[in-house]
Amino acid sequence: AHKKQQYQVLEEIGRGKFGTVFRCFHPSSNQFYALKLIHNRLLTDAADRHCLEIEAKAMIFLSPHPNILKIIDAFQDGETSTIVLQLCQPRTLFDRIADGPLLEPHAASLIKQLLEALTHCHALALAHRDIKPENLLFDDGNNLKLSDFGSAEWFGEGRPMSGVVGSPYYVAPEVLMGREYDEKVDVWSSGVILYAMLSGFPPFYGDSAAQIFEAVLRANLRFPTTIFRSVSAPAKDLLRKMICRDPSRRISAHQALRHPWILSGGVKSG
Ligand code: ADP
Ligand code: MG
Ligand code: MG
Repeated sequence: AHKKQQYQVLEEIGRGKFGTVFRCFHPSSNQFYALKLIHNRLLTDAADRHCLEIEAKAMIFLSPHPNILKIIDAFQDGETSTIVLQLCQPRTLFDRIADGPLLEPHAASLIKQLLEALTHCHALALAHRDIKPENLLFDDGNNLKLSDFGSAEWFGEGRPMSGVVGSPYYVAPEVLMGREYDEKVDVWSSGVILYAMLSGFPPFYGDSAAQIFEAVLRANLRFPTTIFRSVSAPAKDLLRKMICRDPSRRISAHQALRHPWILSGGVKSG
């Protein structure tokens, strides 16, 4: 029997560009998982098929890591491609931010877990390229899990990345400039997430994607006093180092883990 028949597909729990995510049950292990189903006919060109292939390959290559979503299985038949994933809580970081700003210790704990995941990816020469709150999930133990490696790409010496990928609010300016770029694009996106966690708003916004892109390209980072009055100086210092327009001067994920605000757990001193 085909592998697909080992899983009982239950209700829909998420949706993306090419596929749909369902909760599923695997009777032989008595476990519930998430099943990401991609319709092959939606994968029109080679680039799209590449995305699917790299998604499963990247997740297998990166596992196991406490902050990277675990992949259980991946298989294809004529019409569909399926990735079976560890099942997470229904609420992503997007939903948590939508409830309002987070306290600094909470934000520091979450961004530390994201930086741990990114340090691991970058050390293995993989950039995620689609870091955004919808792609940050939580397991039963409330651990942050980086997921959705469909935009990931290998990089390295003599292998710069190019191509516009990512989401308007979170995309780094060098990606929009159409130049070659490196893994620091993930640090920029993580900085934008940290800003949104502490204030409830993204640092660069507009009424259309084009307007958001303009704001990202200006990269004029501001801390409006009404919102940021209560945010600590070390938190703002880390934000400036992550949301830095020049990627060569931008902090790395590894360095950011050693930043005083992260080391103090976001606890204000004095
Ligand atoms: P896409 O590549 O189309 O963006 P994602 O892999 O990001 O697809 O999944 C889309 C949405 O489905 C996620 O934003 C999340 O809400 C939900 N989802 C994905 N994987 C899981 C999972 N393992 N557990 C729970 N929910 C998930
Ligand atoms: Mg996604
Ligand atoms: Mg994706």
